[in-house]
This record gives sequence, C-alpha cells and structure tokens, in this order.
Amino acid sequence: MIQLNVDIQDLNSFGLPCKVAGYCQVGSIEALDKACHDPKFQNKPRLILGGGSNLLLATDFPGLVIQPAWSGIKIIEHDIDSVTIKIGAAEPWHKLVTWSVDNHYFGLENLASIPGWCGAAPMQNIGAYGAELSDACLAVGYINLDTLVQHTLAAKECLFGYRTSIFKTQPAQNWLITDITLRLLRDGELKLDYPGVTEMLDQQKVQQPSPAQVAAAITRIRQHKLPDPAMLGNAGSFFKNPVISGDTANALLAQYPELPHWPIDDQVKLSAAWLIEQCGWKGRRQGAVGVHQNHALVLVHYGNGNGQQLLQLAGNIQQDVNQRFGIDLQPEPKVIQV
Ligand SMILES: Cc1cc2nc3c(=O)[nH]c(=O)nc-3n(C[C@H](O)[C@H](O)[C@H](O)COP(=O)(O)OP(=O)(O)OC[C@H]3O[C@@H](n4cnc5c(N)ncnc54)[C@H](O)[C@@H]3O)c2cc1C
Repeated sequence: MIQLNVDIQDLNSFGLPCKVAGYCQVGSIEALDKACHDPKFQNKPRLILGGGSNLLLATDFPGLVIQPAWSGIKIIEHDIDSVTIKIGAAEPWHKLVTWSVDNHYFGLENLASIPGWCGAAPMQNIGAYGAELSDACLAVGYINLDTLVQHTLAAKECLFGYRTSIFKTQPAQNWLITDITLRLLRDGELKLDYPGVTEMLDQQKVQQPSPAQVAAAITRIRQHKLPDPAMLGNAGSFFKNPVISGDTANALLAQYPELPHWPIDDQVKLSAAWLIEQCGWKGRRQGAVGVHQNHALVLVHYGNGNGQQLLQLAGNIQQDVNQRFGIDLQPEPKVIQV
C-alpha cells in the first residue's frame, strides 16, 4: 500500500530530511503493478530505495519511492568446489557476508561491513579492500517497471567496472533489481595484500586466517576509519577516485610525485582523498555539513542540515580540486534532485 507524504530522513544514511509524495514496499510483481499504475503517481518520477546508504537527497521528492521487499538467501546449486546462491534485493549486504563466512565460503570476506542492501550492490559494483561484487557475481535479476517484465542479466552483460555497471546507465533507470546470483568457493585464496589487512591480522595473532577472520579484521579497520552513519550522517566515500589517461597522469605525477596512484589497464587511478586533502578540505566544517576529520573522502552531516548544503559543499570541493589539479571529481552517491 502506498503511504502519502512520508519523510524518509530515517531511511538515508546522511540523515537528510526529505518529504516524498508516496512510499511503498513491494515484494511481488502484482504489488509493483498496482503501485506503478496508481493514478496519483502517473507521470510522476520514481525512486528505488534500498538501505539509503548511497544517496544524497538534495530536495523533496514529488514522486513515488519504491522499496523492494524480495528477501532470502537460497542455495540453488552446489558442487565439490563451489555453491551458487540467489539473494533477494532486500537482504542487508553485511548479513550476506556474515552468512557466507559463517558457512566457510570464500569470496565475500573483503566486502564485509559495506552498508546497504544486496539489490543495490550491482549498481556501482560495490568494492573494498581489493575485491568487488563482480568477482563473485553470476547474474542479476530485475523487473523493468515500464513493462513489468522480469529479466536476468548474466554478469558479463552487467558491464561491471570500477564503481559502475549497466544499472547506472540511462536505459536502466526504470529497472528494479529483485535478486543477485553469486558463486562462492569452498576453498580459495584470500586477498590480504590491501594496506592494513595483514597488519590487523598480525595484531590479532592470526597466522592462517579463515574468511571469517579476514571479514572480522576488515570490519575492525572500517570501524576505526569510517564514521558510523547511526552516529554521524554520511554515505561513505563521497567522490570516486578519478581514473585518467596515462599521459595526463604522468604530467601530474611529474609535478606531484607523492600523489598516490594505481594503474588500471592503460589508465591511472588517482587518490581523490589526497587531492581533497591538498586543497585543505580535510576536517573542514561548513555549517551543518563538513569533511570528516580522519577521512577527506567522507562528507558528513552533523544534523539539522539539508541536501542543498551538502551539494554546495561537494561543489566547492570539486571546484578547488579542478582549479588546482585540473581533475573533475565525480560523486559516488546518487544525487536526487527534482
Ligand atoms: C559508512 C559507509 C561506508 C561505505 N563503504 C562502501 C565501500 O566500501 N564500497 C562501496 O562500494 N560502497 C560503500 N558505501 C556505499 C554504499 O554502502 C553502497 O553503495 C551500497 O551498495 C548502497 O546500498 P543501498 O541499499 O543503501 O542503496 P541506496 O542508497 O538505497 O541506493 C543507491 C542507488 O541504487 C539504486 N537502487 C537501490 N536498490 C535498488 C534496486 N533493488 N534496484 C534498482 N536500483 C536500486 C537507488 O535508486 C540509488 O540510485 C558505503 C556507505 C557508507 C554509509
């Protein structure tokens, strides 16, 4: 059933106030059919909402917010090396990682403690500590809200890349992801080479770590580094690390040899945090919003602010970084502005 005039401040990790004209949870094609054909919302914009941890709600929303309710973690196939599981969009991502490491499966441990729901994971191909969703993803199921037809895309059709996928493109704007299918290994190689991971395991005197121990170590690192949205509104990293051509990178590195960078195929990924910090933004507050004191990539909402203030702050940072380094920073969260 559609609720009218709802404030979704508690449903976004920035804790930004946002009144929406309609809000509903749907877990079946019949319920979607009803919601999408409700006369009050014909020709009104729609927003699909998961856990709200990657959104900047910059204005009130005059349309219909749809929160998927497909749930469950189901083993659909298994063999001697692996299991294939199908997960409903409304399952919290970290619950899935916990389920996976508790069952001694390999593949999701480095993605521990990423907030949000499984349905949103393919959107930006969530990634952390040297791993990405696409490493384990076999397929994504979705419903096209315009036709209400169900589809399944194989992983290679999802066009996964660094913080991107087909689901971020224009034709997919009306696709509601209902489930993801992943393949997890019964045994595998752990990725421990990301800075800080082995050090944390050493500190905990773990010599031959299990996936559960890696997930626990990464959770501790994250708790130490990132503010908890329940205490301080944020959406994790606000800007993507810019990926630029080798030539541009070489010119920049000749001037700033200390700029952290990583090769990606024939391009180079730069540390957005470093660029922002050099412009003096780390720890700076602008009224009700600011840049976190320990992490230049994390924009925070101290309370009683609004999305326009965050947008203004983000714009100021983008302008400074562009003026100084000639680099365009792109926001990672989806900005909702109608
Ligand atoms: C403290 C913190 C740390 C974070 N760390 C990381 C990290 O390490 N790596 C990382 O990649 N991200 C990180 N994030 C960002 C965020 O957690 C992920 O992007 C997450 O996948 C968002 O999930 P969500 O359910 O909250 O999505 P939402 O914020 O609800 O939605 C995000 C986007 O996905 C769309 N969407 C959501 N669900 C669906 C669906 N079922 N079908 C179609 N579209 C949908 C929305 O319309 C929106 O465009 C972090 C965020 C926070 C707050």
